[in-house]
Amino acid sequence: MNPKTVSQLKSELLTKRETLLNLQALNKKSAMEDDSSMKDVMDRSDVEEAWFAKERMSQHWKVELRQIDTSLQRIEAGTFGVCEECDDEIPVKRLRVRPDANLCLNCQEAHEKETGSTRMSSPSPSLQLLH
Ligand SMILES: [Zn+2]
Repeated sequence: MNPKTVSQLKSELLTKRETLLNLQALNKKSAMEDDSSMKDVMDRSDVEEAWFAKERMSQHWKVELRQIDTSLQRIEAGTFGVCEECDDEIPVKRLRVRPDANLCLNCQEAHEKETGSTRMSSPSPSLQLLH
């Protein structure tokens, strides 16, 4: 893969990583702040709903951070953007959606047919939120 493309993706990943870390920090902060004030205006189920929504978001962020870290490790190791099965290059377009993708589309499809898994095929919902 073109080293320019790799370094561009790397800086995108680092920016995204920072955004996610900031979001996590904000989320923690607001969780502490609204604890007392929310109780007056919301009933129990609302409070729980809000808590679960936050939990879901923070789970998404955790998953994304792990993906980003995996990708950065691959960049360092020089294996980033290369299919583990056939050594083909993984298209940049795909890497933008799934930076931690380790299979090209062909191998991914073959895998999904074999296992019935769609583990790599859907972009994560929080990715769309960030745009
Ligand atoms: Zn492949």
